[in-house]
Parts: sequence; C-alpha cells; structure tokens
Amino acid sequence: MIEFDHVSKVYPNGTVGLRDINLTIKEGELVVIVGLSGAGKSTFLRSINRLNEISSGEIRVGGQSVTRAAGRQLRLIRRDIGMVFQNFNLIKRQNVLSNVLSGRVGYHSTLRTMLGWFPKPDVAIALEALNRVNIREKAYIRADQLSGGQQQRVSIARALAQEARVILADEPVASLDPLTTRQVMDDLKRINREMNITTVINLHFIDLAREYATRIIGLRAGEVVFDGTPEEATDEA
Ligand code: ADP
Ligand code: ADP
Repeated sequence: MIEFDHVSKVYPNGTVGLRDINLTIKEGELVVIVGLSGAGKSTFLRSINRLNEISSGEIRVGGQSVTRAAGRQLRLIRRDIGMVFQNFNLIKRQNVLSNVLSGRVGYHSTLRTMLGWFPKPDVAIALEALNRVNIREKAYIRADQLSGGQQQRVSIARALAQEARVILADEPVASLDPLTTRQVMDDLKRINREMNITTVINLHFIDLAREYATRIIGLRAGEVVFDGTPEEATDEA
C-alpha cells in the first residue's frame, strides 16, 4: 500500500531528515513509528502525502507514485490519505458535522461545497463516520466545546468521511491524558481492523506502540534502526 524506495530527505539547511529508507507497508497494517524527538518520524509521515517534499528516491501509495504525481493525480492520491494531527486541526468555530464534512471537499468541485454546503448523502456519510467513533450526538456542537479526546475522534471521523484508505496520524495522543489516549488509540485500532484501513502512527511511547501496533518501525537520525513485530521490540532493540 505504501512503498519507500531509496527515500532520502535533506532539509535546505543541511539537516538530514531521512536517509535511504526502503520499506513496504502492506494494506491493513497498523504501523507505529517510534523514535526520539528529531529522529525523523514527522518527516517520514509527511512525505507520504507530500506535505513534505523528499530529496531523492520515490514513494508510492496504492501503486501510484506520489513523488511524480502532480495536479489532479496528486489530489486523487491525497483523497485516499486521511491525516490526524497532534493538535486536531479542526475549525474551532464550526460545528462537529461541518468539520467532518470538510473531509468531503474535493468530492464535488462545486461552489456550494467550497462554501460548506454538501448534498444530503454526504451528510449521511459524515454522521455515519461520527457514529463509528461514538460521538454522533456531538454533531451540532461547536468543535471547540469538545474535550481533546473528542476533538481527536472528530478528526478521525473526518478522515473516515473522506473515505481514506490510509490514515496517517502524527503524534495523535501527545496532548491527551492517559485515559483519553487509550480511547483514541482504541478507535484507531478498531477502525484499522473493521475497515482494513492502513494506518501509520507516530508515537514517542514505546509501550503504547507495543500494545497497539502490528509492526513497529524505529527511527534514529533518519535511519530505520528497527523493523519488526511488537514481540521483537524488546527494550534492547
Ligand atoms: P521527529 O518527528 O521524529 O521529531 P522530524 O521529522 O520532525 O523528527 O525531524 C527530523 C530532523 O529534521 C530533525 O533534526 C529536525 O530538526 C529536522 N527538521 C525538521 N523539519 C525541518 C525543517 N523544516 N528545516 C530544517 N530541519 C528540519
Ligand atoms: P442552520 O443551518 O439553520 O444553522 P441546520 O440544522 O440546517 O441549521 O444546520 C446546522 C449545521 O449543520 C449547519 O451549520 C451546518 O454546518 C450543518 N449542516 C447541516 N446540513 C448540512 C448540509 N447539507 N451540508 C453542510 N452542512 C450541513
């Protein structure tokens, strides 16, 4: 589903973000990327949908080159990829339903959807997505009235409404308390299983990675220093 072929990233100031990464993430995997701050986790994740341009190599998603895609082709690849961020990236002053519907911008290129007005079937899809993360009853509440955990579930619902086949989550629980962290990780795991959505999550807690991942990739200074199952990920590794 996601292929890295000799991928390197050097930032303009000379900092190495990624160094010759070669790996394949299969459909339905739940991969957790672990590593210390500065290891390259964020660079790795953001390269996949080209929020970040790589310096050399090639990345493919669903067999299609992200690296060489442009215009409409890139938009179509990006539609398959839902992003979940540490700070949720919701539109604070809009309600939950509108936020989830924003995942469907790009499905219609009409002025209406750009203004935030969607056909009824889209609203049904958005409500179903909210149902999956158990916050359907919050649909008409303003996003900034929700707790952090609820906001993160809204952002997961937005990815579902987008009908993404891949979810990329960049430190999705970094600003949440331990209990809420579990709820959000449980949601991501459940969605990964039930909908076979390929999921890549950046975390800096190895214990959470062991608990939730089907595969753990360890980064250090932009290089893969571990790639294996949670069982293989001992503290020595
Ligand atoms: P992580 O997500 O594991 O904390 P990052 O991918 O954010 O790591 O960063 C990897 C390396 O690239 C770090 O050394 C970081 O300082 C550097 N880096 C990240 N973004 C930039 C940037 N825009 N310009 C220069 N260096 C950057
Ligand atoms: P009103 O628009 O009068 O506030 P509605 O019940 O029609 O009341 O909508 C409440 C909110 O639900 C709106 O602010 C909007 O964000 C969202 N909403 C409802 N239906 C749609 C739709 N078809 N397309 C986009 N957003 C919708």
